[in-house]
Amino acid sequence: MTDSIRALIAGNWKMNGLEAQLGEAEAIAAALASEPARARVALCPPATLISRMAQRLKGGAVEIGAQDIAAQASGAFTGDVSAAMVADAGARLVILGHSERRALHGEDDAEVARKVEAALACGLEPIVCVGETLDQRQAGRAAAIVRGQVEASLPPALKAHAFCVAYEPVWAIGTGLTPSSAEIAALHADIRAALVERLGDTGRRAPILYGGSVKPANAAEILALPEVGGALVGGASLTAADFLPIIRAV
Ligand code: PEP
Repeated sequence: MTDSIRALIAGNWKMNGLEAQLGEAEAIAAALASEPARARVALCPPATLISRMAQRLKGGAVEIGAQDIAAQASGAFTGDVSAAMVADAGARLVILGHSERRALHGEDDAEVARKVEAALACGLEPIVCVGETLDQRQAGRAAAIVRGQVEASLPPALKAHAFCVAYEPVWAIGTGLTPSSAEIAALHADIRAALVERLGDTGRRAPILYGGSVKPANAAEILALPEVGGALVGGASLTAADFLPIIRAV
């Protein structure tokens, strides 16, 4: 991990979680209150739980994030939720361009960039996801695909704002598979170079999270790699029992 960057461990609950699940979030917050984490910690619940989670965890160390926002500020977009709405509900961060949004909702880099701008306009810190598919990796194109996503998904406006990038190989998400440490380190170095080229000093400071089957058993090894500035965690963020050891691995 790069010393000057404070790591972020962010949990993505995806489409999981009803009122009862808030007990897990409270257990995570209580543990961090009695023993503070070295990392920043965030939970990104479904939109329906943002407000209630923010109220229950108010004043604690866990930051709240959204999983997506619309690119538009308001209007006739049935079913969508704007940056201002999630901020009003208590979110301070937002995951953008997750591979599930890209694959299942047809989001391309240009739309992700518009969403980043919408997030910044409302004071949200974006976590912008990039990552290659298995076919792209096997074709030797992982680095080129990821560089292209970084260049096209990150608008120049980010120069003046805090943000994170999450490198999430699509084939590692929810599968139990992970790239080798050398592969993770190589992609993170590539992303850092692209960030610095595109955004100068701001690009030097942005944490680059790794995401894809991070578990208590592999967190310490992954988080110790150069340029790995934290983790975006799906399945293992749903319970305090799994998420806390990952937080403590920083
Ligand atoms: C994710 O949802 O971004 C993710 C990395 O999921 P998992 O940790 O379950 O692979």
